[in-house]
Amino acid sequence: MTVGIVGGGQLARMMALAGYRLGLDFLSLDKDPCTPAAQVAPALSGSFTDPTLLDELAHRSEVVTFDWENVPLESLDRIAGRVRIAPPREAPAAARDRLNEKTLFDALRIPTNRHAAVDSEADLAAAVSRLGLPGVLKTRSLGYDGKGQFVLRKPADIAAAWARLGSNAPLLYEEFVPFDYEVSIIGVRGRDGAIRTWPLNRNLHADGVLRLTRAPWRAPALEAAAVRHVRRVLKHFDYVGVLTIEFFVRRGRLLANEMAPRVHNSGHWTIEGAMTSQFENHVRAILGLPLGDTAPRGHSAMINLLGTMPPREALLAEKSLFLHDYGKEPRPGRKLGHCTLVAASAAERDRRAASLLRRLDSRKIAG
Ligand code: AMP
Repeated sequence: MTVGIVGGGQLARMMALAGYRLGLDFLSLDKDPCTPAAQVAPALSGSFTDPTLLDELAHRSEVVTFDWENVPLESLDRIAGRVRIAPPREAPAAARDRLNEKTLFDALRIPTNRHAAVDSEADLAAAVSRLGLPGVLKTRSLGYDGKGQFVLRKPADIAAAWARLGSNAPLLYEEFVPFDYEVSIIGVRGRDGAIRTWPLNRNLHADGVLRLTRAPWRAPALEAAAVRHVRRVLKHFDYVGVLTIEFFVRRGRLLANEMAPRVHNSGHWTIEGAMTSQFENHVRAILGLPLGDTAPRGHSAMINLLGTMPPREALLAEKSLFLHDYGKEPRPGRKLGHCTLVAASAAERDRRAASLLRRLDSRKIAG
């Protein structure tokens, strides 16, 4: 049984690595011939919209999924009548545009920060006077990991922000949230409508990029609210597969920032830190198989390895640390891999994660 994946990044690679254990095969499609997924599973290489390649993907696959929300919808539409597609196309259609995403949160009564669509410098000035400063101007689509964002702190920033991002319109202006910290919730829904969620993740970003996730993050009231919200989104789309919502936490309340209709970086810890990983449960869900237990095993911290890979000997010498190298070419700021440490207590996890981060940042890995 083959799972087709549009996209061949590290998320596709980790799906394949999880699914091989179950005797499944994978086939990814990407424009780059040596993607992280292509290094571990068969791949088709060429344009995401190439009709011949899409037809082959549909023909050879039991189900087709994707590893990014910007997957071309016309590609999914081309093969929709011939092969099952999961998650449903309506989810990436909403998640790829920040305005649609916020409109959905509002419609589902999921609290989010105040925002306004911006198509001109005059719109931006109006949005700033209505929502106030500071605020963040963001591209509505194709922005990720903090790219395509400008923080405005004073009225004079309006012109600079427009000069930087105006050519990328449509844009969205939103209130800056002086959050206490950030969390995410990951849920999975099966074909039969069964829903499971993993414990709450606490996330630390640096320069807009995820650096550290700790889970389970014990905050029962926040987790209960996050679970209610993700269940509502999953049901709304009649969703099949894994979906993630990221939140700001401000004075003990959640404010939804964005959602991802896919497996997510803040869920990488589930590979070693949960009974069933987000990758395995995504594959189980889209194939109509029973979902696995999402309970945690121990207390996990996941650290992204960005820009250059540290010496693997130093990391592998760490107790109960699991290293993942995505096989990507180094580039400043690029996600090249991650490591997860699993500890017996939250206190030990937090202490070890802080120490490891310090050593990674100072390049003294063996410390
Ligand atoms: P995003 O691409 O929207 O997920 O933004 C990346 C990161 O930038 C978030 O995880 C936050 O750390 C920060 N950020 C984005 N929007 C806001 C905001 N409105 N207020 C404060 N911080 C923000």
